[in-house]
Amino acid sequence: MARLGLIFGDQLNEDHAVLQVLDRTQDQLVMGELAAEASYVNHHGQKIALIFSAMRHVADELAEQGWTVTYRCFDTSSSVQTFTDLVEQTLKQADFDEVVVSWPGEWRVLEEIRGWEKKLGVAVTVLPDSRFLNPLEEFERWADGRKQLRMEFFYREMRRRTGLLMDKDQPVGGQWNFDADNRKRWPGEPQAVHPMRFKHDETTRKVLELVASKLPHFGELENFDYPVTRTQARRALAHFVDRALPYFGDFQDALPDQEDYLFHSRLSSSLNLGLLTPMEVCRAAEQAWKEDKAPLNAVEGFIRQVIGWREYIRGIYWLKMPEYAELNDLNNDQPLPDWYWSGKTRMRCLAQAIGATRRNAYAHHIQRLMVTGNFALILGVVPKEICEWYLAVYADAYDWVELPNTLGMVMHADGGVLASKPYAASGKYIQRMGDHCKSCCYKVSETVGEAACPFNALYWDFLIRHRERFESNPRMKMMYRNVDKMDNDRRQAIEARARYIFENIEAL
Ligand code: FAD
Ligand code: SF4
Repeated sequence: MARLGLIFGDQLNEDHAVLQVLDRTQDQLVMGELAAEASYVNHHGQKIALIFSAMRHVADELAEQGWTVTYRCFDTSSSVQTFTDLVEQTLKQADFDEVVVSWPGEWRVLEEIRGWEKKLGVAVTVLPDSRFLNPLEEFERWADGRKQLRMEFFYREMRRRTGLLMDKDQPVGGQWNFDADNRKRWPGEPQAVHPMRFKHDETTRKVLELVASKLPHFGELENFDYPVTRTQARRALAHFVDRALPYFGDFQDALPDQEDYLFHSRLSSSLNLGLLTPMEVCRAAEQAWKEDKAPLNAVEGFIRQVIGWREYIRGIYWLKMPEYAELNDLNNDQPLPDWYWSGKTRMRCLAQAIGATRRNAYAHHIQRLMVTGNFALILGVVPKEICEWYLAVYADAYDWVELPNTLGMVMHADGGVLASKPYAASGKYIQRMGDHCKSCCYKVSETVGEAACPFNALYWDFLIRHRERFESNPRMKMMYRNVDKMDNDRRQAIEARARYIFENIEAL
């Protein structure tokens, strides 16, 4: 009898495990644009369009390669709305004795799959997800018995394992990590590099029309220019390596007011969809260093994000779920301000980061971490609300990567599993790393008073509020020494300003 392979919309990799195991002469594939998946959060319209367009292209390619593919286009009137419906309906159409999938990107979907044997009376096999270099069992082995799961140590093992930037068993350049060289403010040159733009083909045009007319969504569709095929994604990679990678390291943490991408790659959406593999991306960067086209601090910095952070974050997700999603270690209770959706705030840094998010379904890492993330942290937003926002608004957002980054790295809601201290910062940091503050109506040099930068009072208030939790943290001693230097009047004025901010958050 035949087997049915279900290909999830974010698993479009050529080396998909299901394609390796099934036989195209007798087994079949199914793919579907499902209402439940397109609407479980208020996704950015460009994210939905990207996934649907890439899925349609891959389904066509698979058919050309001789696979029998059942492809269901988005249809709200259909009775097929979930993965379970999709499998159930397809099983009715032919005799299949087994359903085969690859490990999904969300706990929620894994739970759904686990119910199929009982509900649908069919054998189900879940194969490993080949979009990642590090198998989940390897990560569990690495984590087992460790007191602290620090990314840096995991990353060194990944360097050894992949051989990337290695000279026998030593890191090239004599150092594992060149982060200290990667914190420059961008002075306006060299010129920023826009990721390669792709024109809409017929498939993308149809999908954009569908999203515009049938799918309620966040954000704007006009700017859509993402790569939607593997060929396009490879061109985007080559463009990044040639033009932006040489400066990626130096200005990795910069926060310019007018540049949406600066020298960031915008490859995350292609990597997360499986249009690019982590190894091809890293090899291309390493080759640029070997040919002297990009410096080591840039190439090491980039490779660390891909084989270090990306793989580590995914490992943490599967190690800690499902309890992880419920954590709220700092007992936050503030709602997410409405302007996170509209971008209508007078705080320039936030308005720019959210504006870029609405336009492009993209904001770079430092905007996510130190602007929208930092503000949610020091304001004390309920983790679930800010996690839902990040999951919705970016083209690269999937639970496995969004959740640990937001709940762990940004919100410190996991009690420090992911980060040894919270990334809380005042407006000074944002001023140091860019030029938002110059055109802001708030004064970054002031902490109290109506015109003062809201980040400042919230930052000090965060430290005061969570003193018990953080004062013995060796990495925060200096911050608390500064708190202790304040006299009572100053502290009370800061607390009063923070109270004002909490009470008037929507008007800021
Ligand atoms: P570049 O700056 O060019 O970096 C290169 C690549 O490294 C990225 O394409 C990405 O694949 C990888 N990478 C870098 N940092 C991380 C990281 N912390 N975790 C995982 N991969 C990383 N990334 C997502 O892919 N999806 C998300 O939903 C997501 N949510 C985030 C939420 C928050 C609060 C924060 C702080 C970060 C989040 N990130 C997420 C990580 C990171 O910000 C994005 O991967 C990056 O901004 C994507 O842009 P880029 O491709 O231009 O990255
Ligand atoms: Fe942001 Fe404060 Fe600077 Fe305004 S002054 S841009 S709110 S950091």
